[in-house]
Amino acid sequence: MSVEKLKFKTEVKQLLDLMIHSLYSHKEVFLRELISNASDAVDRARYESLTNSDILENDGNWKITVSKDKNAGTLTISDNGIGMTKDEIIKALGTIAHSGTKEFLAALQSKEVKDNPELIGQFGVGFYSSFMVADKITVISRPAGQKDKMGVKWESTGDGTYTVEDIYKETKGTDVILHLMEGEKKYLDEWEIRSVVKKYSDFIEHPVVMEVEKEQESTLKKGEKVKVKEEETLNSMKAIWLKDKSEVTKEEYNEFYKHISHDFTGPAKVIHYKAEGTSEFSALLYIPSKAPFNIFYKDYEIGPVLYVKRVQIMDHCEDLIPPYLRFVRGVVDSSDLPLNVSREILQNNRQVEIIKTNITKKVLETLADMNKDEYDGYLTFYKEFGRVLKEGIHFDFTRRETIADLLLFPSTKAEDGKFRTFQDYIEGMKEDQQEIYYATGTALDEVLKSPYLEAFRDKDIEVLIFLDEIDDFIFTGFEYKGKKLKSVSKGDINLDKTEGDEKKNARKKYGKLLDLVKDTLKDDVKDVRLSGRLTDSACCLVADEGDMDPQMEKLLKAMGQDVPQRKRILEINPAHPLFAAMNTIFEKDKRSPVLDEYTKLLYDQALLLEGSKPKDPAAFAKAVAKLMVENAEKSNANV
Ligand code: ADP
Repeated sequence: MSVEKLKFKTEVKQLLDLMIHSLYSHKEVFLRELISNASDAVDRARYESLTNSDILENDGNWKITVSKDKNAGTLTISDNGIGMTKDEIIKALGTIAHSGTKEFLAALQSKEVKDNPELIGQFGVGFYSSFMVADKITVISRPAGQKDKMGVKWESTGDGTYTVEDIYKETKGTDVILHLMEGEKKYLDEWEIRSVVKKYSDFIEHPVVMEVEKEQESTLKKGEKVKVKEEETLNSMKAIWLKDKSEVTKEEYNEFYKHISHDFTGPAKVIHYKAEGTSEFSALLYIPSKAPFNIFYKDYEIGPVLYVKRVQIMDHCEDLIPPYLRFVRGVVDSSDLPLNVSREILQNNRQVEIIKTNITKKVLETLADMNKDEYDGYLTFYKEFGRVLKEGIHFDFTRRETIADLLLFPSTKAEDGKFRTFQDYIEGMKEDQQEIYYATGTALDEVLKSPYLEAFRDKDIEVLIFLDEIDDFIFTGFEYKGKKLKSVSKGDINLDKTEGDEKKNARKKYGKLLDLVKDTLKDDVKDVRLSGRLTDSACCLVADEGDMDPQMEKLLKAMGQDVPQRKRILEINPAHPLFAAMNTIFEKDKRSPVLDEYTKLLYDQALLLEGSKPKDPAAFAKAVAKLMVENAEKSNANV
């Protein structure tokens, strides 16, 4: 029987270094993590045994055993759950198996995590936390239902390598043996173990048992006491979600949250209720306060834990929650579903659909209440998850308006650092205003200075600022309370209902000049027209109504997609003195080279204002310098 020596993957090694050398203040959580793993292993075995009784091996007495050996200095956590094969143990305890490994490594290096090792909890580092108290860990495991096969022994001192070897193991499940460090022997005390289990793992639904010594009346000699060993269950095993709200403390809610979410930061909000009527179920849901690093990744697992009559069926049931609420964690326990429910059944199940509708409504209501009553908390939530929530506008047609009411935006009318809602906007609208105006961009201060907002400022019309790249896409076609959304940089903007004489005159006066400009720029823009949105700037570029937003274009390009370059429309401000001046030149000499030069400069300016580069930066700089010289010579001549 050979012993294989293997190396931990880099990320595990770095994690171990951080764990062992950090001054993590609550080392005792290692016990919670091991009990949690054992409980998961028992859940899986119990679930599989519903369809395969071999798994039971005649022992359906599910439990987790904590045993201590003071002489050897070891603490052992055993379970009679699903167990692991050699390959499984190498994968489970030799790597960190998630696709965000890059982010994980970055987090390990970051100062924030080094100062607060708790933060690492969100990556699911459970097992390794035991190296905070043990200088050697031995794991012995054998898969349930494979009595005739060998088990595996895994061992490591946390120094970068571990060994595995085949070993005989009589019983199914896993023993994790911690060889406690010199300074950590207190975890061999009955009292200490009892209190740590009570504190962190009371709700675990399988018994956590320990052999304890008790004094008892002797049956031989009356009046004399003898010591006997007895198995004691340390946890109350009450399914916390089935309890009445009034019976659960905040700490219990928080501990349970950490158990199911692997997030060491407490939740922002707890939603706990029982539904009766068309569907009977209990739900204990949490809105986290911090976004998990992988919420935008494919490997992020959506959905609460599903129980049927207290039996865990699935870790993450994605049919119970819409993806735009995927940040919600928790437990749903249904009385109506069959115990042997499969994934296929869940997908088309009416009961599941009812629960999903109910949960969605409840979560959205809770968020609305937070927005109303606990604004600061809501703001924290929104900054973490607003982008996820917003997806609902696009994907959940029936609840778009409800979701829209939860969204916050900077705006030309918001005070510094404050936000506005669609409702605020509607309330502040001009009497005859039919549309909700928005501007897109990446930096708020830049957008606020953009020329696209000039006429709106002038007319005191509010413009919401959308800073997420996906916003333009999400809000396409969206109407809030019958008011369409309209981008200030797309299509025609006409804030004056009737075209005033001024514009008519300008059209007459500059018509020919406009034709010339159009002809000069025919390869660059698709049209040149008089603007209804400019008051100070001379010109700007706008997109056609149905065209893609420049933010979206950037995003798609960054994702490596081929985005065809679309020509924009150049809008000209007829009130700007530049046009009167250009027109005078035009009337004197239609072919003046100055007109050509100015037209190109105008276009370059418009590109700059849009956040793009001039077409030919060198030529642009040269032309500006030339103008400066001419201007300086003129001023000097006037002196
Ligand atoms: P997590 O529990 O967050 O996945 P851990 O590092 O605690 O992370 O555990 C890694 C993996 O090891 C688990 O996902 C599980 O597959 C396996 N594992 C740990 N403990 C046990 C156990 N007692 N029985 C079976 N598998 C286990």
